[in-house]
Amino acid sequence: MSVLGIETTAHTASIGVVDDSARVLALASDVYRPAAGGIHPREAANHHAEAFPMLLDRLYTEGKLVPEEIEGVAFSQGPGLGPCLRTGATVARVLSLAWNRPLLPVNHCIAHIEIARVLSRMDDPILLYASGGNTQVVAYSHGRYRVLGETLDIGVGNFLDKLAITLGGTFPGGPLIEKWGESGKELFELPYSVHGMDLSFSGLLTAAIAAHRAGVSREDLSYSVEVTAFSMLCEVLERGLAHLGKREVVLGGGVAANKMLRSMVEKMAAPRGVKVFAPPPQLCVDNGAMIAWTGLLSLRHNLQAEVEESPVLPRQRTDHVDVPWRHGGKTSEPGALD
Ligand code: AMP
Ligand code: MG
Repeated sequence: MSVLGIETTAHTASIGVVDDSARVLALASDVYRPAAGGIHPREAANHHAEAFPMLLDRLYTEGKLVPEEIEGVAFSQGPGLGPCLRTGATVARVLSLAWNRPLLPVNHCIAHIEIARVLSRMDDPILLYASGGNTQVVAYSHGRYRVLGETLDIGVGNFLDKLAITLGGTFPGGPLIEKWGESGKELFELPYSVHGMDLSFSGLLTAAIAAHRAGVSREDLSYSVEVTAFSMLCEVLERGLAHLGKREVVLGGGVAANKMLRSMVEKMAAPRGVKVFAPPPQLCVDNGAMIAWTGLLSLRHNLQAEVEESPVLPRQRTDHVDVPWRHGGKTSEPGALD
């Protein structure tokens, strides 16, 4: 069995094809890069509309996409930017109708967990999902994936992107902050903002911009924001591990490519005997393969949608989605947290 997945929650237009052993048979992506500033949702959606014919054509010509072998068409239903989601959903609906294959709506955050879970062969990990728009610590409990903690304002990736642009860089800013931070020598004190299990980055952004204007070097500032922001993530992740007694961590989202973040998570986890896994970079960032794999799990549990009933859900919550493959085939298992 193989399923095709379409990803368009934000800046990335991507198509993946995955088989039932989670082998990635095809993956092609194209990223919208704004000339200046952050993502404009409508412009990103226009980019995706132009990218898909090209991506489909490329995979088809390379022989990696064989329509007769595709058994379902999955797409990111949410959360994400409305115009971008609608573009991807339209492509998926067209392919589903043209090929007469089931249409499979997928939650984007759950897709990050499921691809990491199958690649790592971990059974029940906690996910640290650190991307542009999302920052969450997520784990399975009582029938659903639960959000244990999350950002109260912007995602950690957006925070790094906005700061990098102020420091003279362009989108995506995370890799630039990482590069500048490697030459940082001094740790500059910045607001550390953890509220219970939740986090906040907007005050940190304001303080970092003020420090830049006051003359703190780009290198020291980049190093200092990484140490501060990633310590916040590690604190929430560690508390989640301690409360739930979980033994495994997976990382997801583009920020998980950051070497300092990975090494801080590993240092936190090692004394607890907790295993850490991060997918390879092309499966850590937004990609169609993770949507395809989660669509395949959905197809096994008959979670296909009719085209007329396949809306995009820009604010869909991870904990509103049933994951029957995690609880023995039942579509719901109300638990203490429901
Ligand atoms: P995603 O939304 O999951 O596709 O990830 C994109 C986000 O990851 C953007 O905000 C990037 O700036 C950020 N990012 C990518 N690579 C790195 C890196 N090496 N360090 C920090 N952030 C990164
Ligand atoms: Mg993502």
